[in-house]
Order: sequence, then structure tokens, then C-alpha cells
Amino acid sequence: MRRTAVYRNELFLQHRPGYDHPESPDRLQVIYRELDREDTGSCFVYPGFEPASTEIIGLNHSRALIEKVAATAGHAHDFLDADTRTSEESYAAACLAAGALVDAVNRLDRGEIDNAFCLVRPPGHHAERDRSMGFCLFNNVAIAAHWAVEELGCRRVMIMDWDLHHGNGTQHSFYDSDKVLYCSTHQYPYYPGTGAVIEIGTGAGRGYTVNVPLAGGQGDMEYAAIFNELILPVARRFEPELVLVSCGFDIYDGDPLGAMKVTPAGFAYMTRVLLELAGEVCGGRLAVTLEGGYNLQGMKEGALAVLTELCGEELSGSYPEYLGGEYADKLEKSRRSSVRLPQLDQVVEVVGNFWDI
Ligand SMILES: [Zn+2]
Repeated sequence: MRRTAVYRNELFLQHRPGYDHPESPDRLQVIYRELDREDTGSCFVYPGFEPASTEIIGLNHSRALIEKVAATAGHAHDFLDADTRTSEESYAAACLAAGALVDAVNRLDRGEIDNAFCLVRPPGHHAERDRSMGFCLFNNVAIAAHWAVEELGCRRVMIMDWDLHHGNGTQHSFYDSDKVLYCSTHQYPYYPGTGAVIEIGTGAGRGYTVNVPLAGGQGDMEYAAIFNELILPVARRFEPELVLVSCGFDIYDGDPLGAMKVTPAGFAYMTRVLLELAGEVCGGRLAVTLEGGYNLQGMKEGALAVLTELCGEELSGSYPEYLGGEYADKLEKSRRSSVRLPQLDQVVEVVGNFWDI
């Protein structure tokens, strides 16, 4: 049985962007409730962890932004941009969210855990160096990747971002770096507007940003083809020493903000592919962090699917069916030629200039 660390804390439920806001505490509450069940929760370890310090957050963010977010502490309602609202505890929750992922990376580095899922709020991947946006205060995954490279001496970190939205903040944090490979699948054109195929990185970072913009309507088979024929081959060439996943459940079939059709089997499959990759190249070191997802059923089912794959155990009687069988075989065999995905052909052509895939 793998040592899968789950990061949870009641403070993540205290970030309250407002009663009508889609990024509500309920999103995490439904997952925490599943973990409180005897048959799921006992499969995991729950490490203690600290908020990220200003210095650590400063690896990815400007002093001015950190002060701006810190200034919201104790205020019932503040706005960081049109859709990024805060409450009394939001700053504290944001520091703790970043701290969770940094702690996971440290424990992976020391070999104390095999993999991790940070079930945190607020999310992070839209947050830019000097700007909070898109429900995100600080960029949790970018902070952790900086930490891994600059403090732990990791030479190559891969970030896979399968959230519905493009992770503009994460992309920009490492756009000129060959130490961090950023791969994103996302609905396009859509919020935040970035993530075109031609956005490939700059300078030493050319080829280290891989964008797969999708029209909408894509489901398990299409995502499986993208992972089988693009993500996995590029990642094998890159050989990351650590794999980080920006996991959005807003690609779930039925999410109110998106038009994707991914089911729990699809989330399980993508996790499995990345775990296999991590097993091949970096001793399985992989940490998943929660980004978006606005359908509560999707949050629950998606999280259970990812957690099941991470720990390699059947968590409960209702979630074993996608672990094997015919459907998993079909996903494994899914190729560009078997799904209609003109965008993927274009990406493979561009990426093929940098990677022998
Ligand atoms: Zn999203």
C-alpha cells in the first residue's frame, strides 16, 4: 500500500468569497465528508503542515502583491479583482494552501510519503506574480515548483494542469525556464484568454510550455489520447524529478462553468498515466493540488477517483469499476486517429520541433 498524504484543514473552509460565488467552501466540504468515512479516510496519512512564510510566497510573488493580499485579513469583504473576493480568513487560508504543497514537496523529497493530494482552497493557477485573479490569491503550484528548484535543487519539475481553464499564472512564472515543464489542457478560447498552441515559452524556456487548447465537448477518450500521444512522450523525454498536478474538476461532465465531458474514469486514467510516468523517472514523486471544479458531485467523484489511483486501493464499494476492465483498456488504446481532435495534431506538430515524440 502506498503512503499517500492528504492535506486538509478546516481553515480552507473559512475562505468565503460570498454566498453567490461558485468557488464556495462546499466544494471542499463534500470531499472532506468522504474522507471522514471509515472506509476511505483510513487509507491515507494526514501530515501536519505550516502556512508558507512571506519569504516562500515571495519566491513567486511580488512584495506588493503579498502586502495587498495580507491587507485583506480581518475584513469581512474585499475584492482583489472583479471575481476574486476575500473574507476575514482568506489570507491565512491562502498562506496555508501554499504551505500544504510546499510541505508535500519536502516530504516527497525526504522519502517520507509516496505521493500527495492537497485538498486546499483558495486555488492558485491564475495568480500572476503581481496580481491575484480568477478566484486565485497565491499560485500554490508555482510557489512549490520554485521551492523545489531553488531550495531543494530539483533540476526538472513537471507541472501538468488539466483544469478547464488555462493556468496563465503558472505559465508566466516559468515561461523562460527549462527547469519547469508546464503542460496544460484547457477550453479555448475561454477565460483567461491565454493558452494558444503557439505559446511555447521564450529564451531557454522555448519548448518547455505545452498548450493544448480544446474547443469544448471533449471527454475521457480525447483526454486519454492527449495523455497517450503527447503528454506522456514529452514527459518521458523531459524526465522530471518531481511531478506536480494542477487538478481541476471543472472538466467534469456537468460542471456549470465548462463544456467538457470527463467522468471519474477519465480522472482516474489521467492520474494513472502520471503515476506511471513518475514511477518510471522519479521514484513516483507526485503531488496533486486542487484548482477548480464547481459541480459538487464532480468534486466528490473526481476526488475519489484521483485518491483511489494515488493510494492504489479500492476506497469503497462504489468506486472500483473504473480501476480496470474494458473501459480502462479502451482509454489506454485511445489515439489521435481514433478521436476527432484537430487541435491535437496541431500541438503535436509544434511540440515536435522541440521534443522527439
Ligand atoms: Zn478552472
